[in-house]
Amino acid sequence: MTAKTISNPYIHRLQMRHFVLFDVLPIFGVVAAVGFLFVRPFGPLEFGLLFGMWVVTGLGVTTGYHRQLTHRTFKATPWVTGMLAIAGSMACQGPAISWVALHRRHHEFSDREGDPHSPNLHGPGWRGAVRGLAHSHYLWMRRHEYPNVVHYAPDLLKDRSLVRISRLYYWWVTLGLVVPAVIGGLVTLSWTGAVSGLLWGGLVRIFVLEHIVWAINSFLHMFGTRPYESRENSHNGGIFALLTFGEAWHNNHHAFPESPSFGLQWYRLDPGYWLIKTLALLGLAWDLKVPGEARIESRRIRQRYSAAPDA
Ligand SMILES: [Zn+2]
Ligand SMILES: [Zn+2]
Repeated sequence: MTAKTISNPYIHRLQMRHFVLFDVLPIFGVVAAVGFLFVRPFGPLEFGLLFGMWVVTGLGVTTGYHRQLTHRTFKATPWVTGMLAIAGSMACQGPAISWVALHRRHHEFSDREGDPHSPNLHGPGWRGAVRGLAHSHYLWMRRHEYPNVVHYAPDLLKDRSLVRISRLYYWWVTLGLVVPAVIGGLVTLSWTGAVSGLLWGGLVRIFVLEHIVWAINSFLHMFGTRPYESRENSHNGGIFALLTFGEAWHNNHHAFPESPSFGLQWYRLDPGYWLIKTLALLGLAWDLKVPGEARIESRRIRQRYSAAPDA
């Protein structure tokens, strides 16, 4: 039998290195970007690079890493699959296959012993809540049991191009830093433009996106609304729908993990799903496994009063 998780000093060293490089360093990147405002003010170039790279990498994580690779909610051409995985890799949240394994384990043990990042397992009272939030939002990444990809992602290991994309992870991260720097340099024809591009389109963008993704793991497993029955403590945070590319419909997602749509209804904003629909319209994606109305309704949590016999 293959082990479900692996823990050894080598893996923990890699985790600590990844944590320092991509979860701690961007904080200094933000400080540097603010300091650099004395050299070059924040203008349309900085905004464009920050926003553009944020959208590309954010959609890469939610549509590629999460909805396609982890949950198999739709199929797409190899080219689209590869591009989404590369865009997701640039977000610095680990290689595609490791991310998938970790996230499948999160769904397997959600808010129980074994969940890599639950905020709800750290004791009672407000102290437990604060400890839980710190762990689930940030600290768990320093060192954790590594979910064995042979157990959790055998389907992805069979896909040779995905394995290759995962192995080249550090190159994609570098590309995500070089692209905004080169654009910044070319647009302004200056080194200060290149540095400004690297800071805003690279490090600040990484910082902003990762805190948004982590907030789903931490805050949305504690606060928000719960329209649907699900066995863990997931919540929706609808006001953050656009900011999170639709990931904020986290209770919907835990209740219907097979659905490419996290919003489930057209009026719940869900940019990650809009991308999938667009790809489907272009014939580049298919097999969208959106659950039917009856299935969605069957899991709705009824108001207390509607449980009365005459309701
Ligand atoms: Zn998920
Ligand atoms: Zn969750």
